[in-house]
Amino acid sequence: MANMGYMKLIFLGPPGSGKGTLAARVVDILKVPHISTGAIFRAAIATKSFLGLRVKAIIDAGHLVSDRITIEMVKERLAQADARQGYILDGFPRTIPQAEALDGFSTVDKAVDLDLSDALVLERLSGRRICRKCGFTYHATFNPPKKADICDTCGGEIYTRDDDREKAIQERLEVYREQTAPLIDYYRKKGLLVEVDARPTVDLVVENFRKALGL
Ligand SMILES: [Zn+2]
Repeated sequence: MANMGYMKLIFLGPPGSGKGTLAARVVDILKVPHISTGAIFRAAIATKSFLGLRVKAIIDAGHLVSDRITIEMVKERLAQADARQGYILDGFPRTIPQAEALDGFSTVDKAVDLDLSDALVLERLSGRRICRKCGFTYHATFNPPKKADICDTCGGEIYTRDDDREKAIQERLEVYREQTAPLIDYYRKKGLLVEVDARPTVDLVVENFRKALGL
């Protein structure tokens, strides 16, 4: 049996493949922190530090935070006590230069690729609806609210984020295929790649993940 915990994992996969959902479940299995660049950026912004304010300006303008800044912030986060023996990295590395930098300050045990076709990414994300008030996520086809456009729990209005409109999804997918998909080969060549089919239900994806890692 592989040792529980103390595993350093990175999660790859297109937007909508369920990386965040799987990561939340794996935190309970492996007892390692889930570290997403989104959360790192939000924490930095909250401190209103010089770097935090710069990151806020970049994100507000709709741009991606540069490799240099992202690498620096992830390196700092991985140096904290809770992440020294294991972690799940989600949203990093996003590019080959980021992966090469990561090799310089940490040793990845496995790269988990959540595999989902472009057509299914589009179907999942374009159906996503979010409550304006409580943030609960619905899906027009798979998990609709009981009353159209009204949140079941808080009565808030349900809407489609700009990010989840078809054109925006296509653009996110293009960026992913161009910049991030090459990481799949990068980790395959190192013998670290684990492929998990992202199509089934969450419970099955978790089960397949466990099998693939021998947990
Ligand atoms: Zn709500």
